[in-house]
Amino acid sequence: MIIVPLGVASATPTAVRHLPSVALWREGDVHLFDCGENAQMRMLQAGLKRSKIENILISHFDVDHFSGLIGLLSTLQLQRREKPITIAGPKGIKQYVEWNIEFAKINLNFEIKFVEVEEDFESERVVDQEEYYIEARPLNHTSFCIGYRFQEKDRPGKVDAEKAESLGITEDEQYKALKAGDDVELEDGTIIKSYDIVGHPRPGDSFAYITDTRYCPNAVKLAMNTNILYHEATFSESLAEKAAETGHSTSADAARVANEAQTKLLVIAHFSARYTNPFVLLREARAKFFPAWLATELRPIYTNPAQEKGIVKQRVYIKEVDDKGGSKGGPRKKSRDKGDKKRFRKRKGSSDRKSRSRDDSSRRRKRRPDNQGHRKSKDDNNDQGSSRPPKHITPRTPFDNFDRF
Ligand SMILES: [Zn+2]
Repeated sequence: MIIVPLGVASATPTAVRHLPSVALWREGDVHLFDCGENAQMRMLQAGLKRSKIENILISHFDVDHFSGLIGLLSTLQLQRREKPITIAGPKGIKQYVEWNIEFAKINLNFEIKFVEVEEDFESERVVDQEEYYIEARPLNHTSFCIGYRFQEKDRPGKVDAEKAESLGITEDEQYKALKAGDDVELEDGTIIKSYDIVGHPRPGDSFAYITDTRYCPNAVKLAMNTNILYHEATFSESLAEKAAETGHSTSADAARVANEAQTKLLVIAHFSARYTNPFVLLREARAKFFPAWLATELRPIYTNPAQEKGIVKQRVYIKEVDDKGGSKGGPRKKSRDKGDKKRFRKRKGSSDRKSRSRDDSSRRRKRRPDNQGHRKSKDDNNDQGSSRPPKHITPRTPFDNFDRF
């Protein structure tokens, strides 16, 4: 499965972060966890087809987590969707969607299957399909909030065809029976045991979506042994009190859940707008759990990179921020500013002019220092960046009070 963060902000979007939403791609289908404003646009930019959405799972009714839902449904209608879609969430989601659709006079051509969970529930499979299920459990926020676990069902073990043939298995029906776990009796009375031919069942991949919660045991249960745990980390440890007060987690809380659940990979997201550079949160998480990553909008996270890389191709350039808060990489042509470009051209011209009068080996010698010189100038820029006073935690504006997250 492929996880694509579509929005990693908390309640307040910033110039570079969108409201919460995560897409899970599996076997061509998409499952959407929360649907913040812009989720449908981010899907487009991520290279994910909106028509492929099977399930939408809403965590709670803080506006930032579901404000993109009606717009997305309207788009699906305009795309002439016919396939049913499932929307799961806290009780009230059905009323909210139906009222909006009626108010906006949208004539839906497709069926919406609602799965609503009541506040006092313990755990529930909100979706249960042949190959996967989605489990929900209540979390611990200031309002009723649900965490989800997407679990692929175990696949049957591989059949050792050579061994089966050598033992006298020839018919397709016999293979099927062995694969289903049944023993097969040959004509001469020999019994071929299924476990001799069929390997161990292969465990399915799993993903947990835990957002807007203080640390709670249900988060650990949902995340138990997952391949990927996507956990909110709204605050750093220094704001633990504020996290507790507003019903959120610190990056250390996220790492604690990851440790207790023995997840394979922790991905933190839902960053407070005050962190212009979320690496401070990553450092704290990594001090307690590894591997831990920052969710980067539109950058896919794979459970099986060898097979999955290249399936989801984003259509926009992802700007990366390094741990000093500066940007790095980028499209090559654009990464050089105009001044650099001019200087580079000039140098290239002058080196070419000189090289005309020299032999090949001297040209090679001449070029090497040129390249190094170019690289060095880049490093110099970085050095300048790091010599600036660290800007890890900066309020967006002095007037924001960040009461809500
Ligand atoms: Zn939130």
